[in-house]
Amino acid sequence: MASFPLKGVVLGALEAVGLFGLFQRLAWRNQRLLILGYHGVALLDEHRWEPGLYQSPATFEARLQEILRGGYQVLPLSEAIGRLYDGSLPPRSLVLTFDDGFADFAEIVHPMLQRYRLPATVYITTCYCEAGGPVFNPFSRYLLWKCGRDGVDAAPLLGRPERWNLTTLEGQAGAFRSLHRWAKDRGLCPRKKDQLLDQLGLLLGVDLEPLRARRMFHLMRPAEVAELSRAGIDFQLHTHRHRTPMDQALFLREIADNRTVLEPLRGSPATHLAYPSGVHSEVFLPWLREAGVSSATTVESGIASRATDPLLLPRMVDTDTLSPVEFRAWLCGIRSLFPTRVRQAPLRPPPPGSPGSADPATAASRHEESATRL
Ligand SMILES: [Zn+2]
Repeated sequence: MASFPLKGVVLGALEAVGLFGLFQRLAWRNQRLLILGYHGVALLDEHRWEPGLYQSPATFEARLQEILRGGYQVLPLSEAIGRLYDGSLPPRSLVLTFDDGFADFAEIVHPMLQRYRLPATVYITTCYCEAGGPVFNPFSRYLLWKCGRDGVDAAPLLGRPERWNLTTLEGQAGAFRSLHRWAKDRGLCPRKKDQLLDQLGLLLGVDLEPLRARRMFHLMRPAEVAELSRAGIDFQLHTHRHRTPMDQALFLREIADNRTVLEPLRGSPATHLAYPSGVHSEVFLPWLREAGVSSATTVESGIASRATDPLLLPRMVDTDTLSPVEFRAWLCGIRSLFPTRVRQAPLRPPPPGSPGSADPATAASRHEESATRL
């Protein structure tokens, strides 16, 4: 972000004059709850591919140490939300949450959390957890980045003349769009998509075997979810297929299917949701209440107070692009007073009579497109 160096200088100056320490002690901060959101900690080099989604293990561990050094209290999600609204939060409260349920959580994150004795919630998308294998969208995008060559002849894969320049982010995005559209037009099932990944690896000259062996872009298996649940990790809802249709019946089915898989694994009802890709709308709120969902988190940066709607809780998404001083500014709360980039704007229902209003499928497909990162 262009303003990053200036922001760093300003925040550094505020910290140097003691404002961070002051904010840590304010009743204002102590009546508020910071919910941190993570997507992944790199198994290999994913943080270099997508620093806006992934962190290196070293950065993540430094964050945990910063949290403990600052005297912050990491609470389980359910307890924190209860205490936010009954006014009994301990000073400097925060919650750690992880989206999707990727295998790096079991391999890297969980052992670190155990070492530092910190609780966490994982919002899991159960369809990919049950299916096994790598998730097509991020894995294919990663492979295009990993190849990094110009003039790749995509004709053998797509069956039409097309050349890809994979040396630029723009070129990689264009190639991914072609590939995604090609797979979507053919309605490929997960097994066929997995075969397409093998073909893509051959075309790009990237050996998939070590990446598959490392379980890159795989979700945790059901047995791992059950085992980590028993070890104290709180698994919660993220919809079954990582989507939030604008049609009520389809939306409620996502929650129901998510629960059908998850609740036997965690051994108790799941009542907390993270909106997939942060896509949220006022339309969803009565549906969530009807489904007995007691809290829902967005990816809009902020710090929650008692006045916040529990179904629209803000979350600060922490990635490798966030500097240590900005992270500390979020912990003490001062950063929430500055403007932030909107990561995912709320989806507005179409006005009555507009072309999209009578067609929930249009809105649903728009959601689906916005969710391409999983
Ligand atoms: Zn997600």
